[in-house]
Amino acid sequence: MQTLQSKHASEIWSYFADICAIPHPSKHDEKLRQWIINWAQEKNIECVKDEVGNLILKKPASAGFENKSAIILQAHLDMVPQKNSNTEHDFLVDPIQTHIDGEWLHANDTTLGADNGIGMASCLAVLADNTLQHGPLEVLLTTDEETGMVGAFGLKSGALQGSILINTDSEQEGELYVGCAGGINVNVNMHYEKMEVEPTDSAYEITLTGLKGGHSGCDINLGRANAVKVLVSVLNNLAAIPFHLSTLQGGSLRNAIPREASTIIVCDKQYQNSLETLIATLNQQLVSEFKNAEDTLSLQIKSTLLPTSILTNSSQKNLLDCLFSCPNGIVSMDDNFSNVVQSSSNLGVLEQNKTNLRFELQVLVRSQVEDEKQKIAEQISQHFQAHLGKVRKDGNYPGWKPNVESKIYKIMEAQYIKLFDNKPKTMVIHAGLECGLFSEKYPHLDMISFGPTIKFPHSPDEKVHIDSVDKYWKLLIATLKSID
Ligand SMILES: [Zn+2]
Repeated sequence: MQTLQSKHASEIWSYFADICAIPHPSKHDEKLRQWIINWAQEKNIECVKDEVGNLILKKPASAGFENKSAIILQAHLDMVPQKNSNTEHDFLVDPIQTHIDGEWLHANDTTLGADNGIGMASCLAVLADNTLQHGPLEVLLTTDEETGMVGAFGLKSGALQGSILINTDSEQEGELYVGCAGGINVNVNMHYEKMEVEPTDSAYEITLTGLKGGHSGCDINLGRANAVKVLVSVLNNLAAIPFHLSTLQGGSLRNAIPREASTIIVCDKQYQNSLETLIATLNQQLVSEFKNAEDTLSLQIKSTLLPTSILTNSSQKNLLDCLFSCPNGIVSMDDNFSNVVQSSSNLGVLEQNKTNLRFELQVLVRSQVEDEKQKIAEQISQHFQAHLGKVRKDGNYPGWKPNVESKIYKIMEAQYIKLFDNKPKTMVIHAGLECGLFSEKYPHLDMISFGPTIKFPHSPDEKVHIDSVDKYWKLLIATLKSID
């Protein structure tokens, strides 16, 4: 990173090197927080730690800018700790090691923490640089964003004075974010009755694999198959065969589109051939149905050990009917922004608990519009309740409704055109940003989110585009100067 520090004008790389040297995985960002507190003290920068561990640093306006709007610059302190299984790295102790590969800065087989370390470094660089021009400035560094936006949830209303907030946590240079979705979890428990298996029957395992999955918000409009929903429709297509369901499961994360699902069914051995033929045909149909979005989809069947129990006919019918007709995917599109999903739901996890005889489902509903989010969550709840499911909603967080009249957006867009001679893209992200929580606590805030280009965040392949950091910095300081 020393090469970067010497070649590029801003202090971002030097602060980013400091940040990489100090372990700061989510839930363990205290060392970095303390380093920043000490740093601020040395530089005579006012710095307050709040009850949850957020830092608020303050810098007075530069000369002549005392009457300009007060600005909040914001990043999160923590990073996602991910490494490859064969990599030796202790995120609590070891510094992040980096290397340059062409136009990109990578970490050595771990997450880099450019999400949101570059944003954080830019906040420190702005605080430290007395040649910059801007109105009264507050820097908000939130704790544990990556594990449920803990800092943003815990932030007190009244702690910040600024009227404009610039969030640095989005990941594509050339895009300006003006809104984000909120979310709510719908958790469902479906009890079932079981019965014994005919010992002369045979069992078959049907698996659906090779799907792309992806983020349940950002990727929900890509036409990808939801493994659970598709496998349930496969089972519906087997109606000609009198089969019994023993096992059904799929997905592993609420916020990811399920990539795999599997089921074990039981029937008389005489149906084996028809079953195999049917599954092969359905495989072909699915490959063709999803040909634009999935290229490695595979539906397979194989014989397996006879399980000890199966669902009763009525439990089986109830479960399959209810999963088949459960709404899933895009619910509505945003009227003001083309190709932006406004509301969606993702049936992310279906688990079977054989001890307690129940199926446990996790659904995540997202929307930029609070009322619509609540309405969809309630519709899904009622759907499962009508099928005797027990429903619990939790994890509610607000969205950030896009404001087409945003002043900071207009300023930043104008500065972008002036600097780079083309128009930035206006974006709304169908996923959660801390801005949703800020807008709930500070309804008057005019907000924007931007950042340098970061690919594959939250994975050991995370990398940041070096030149995009220069552009990010130029846009940031030009924007700060232009806010009136
Ligand atoms: Zn982030």
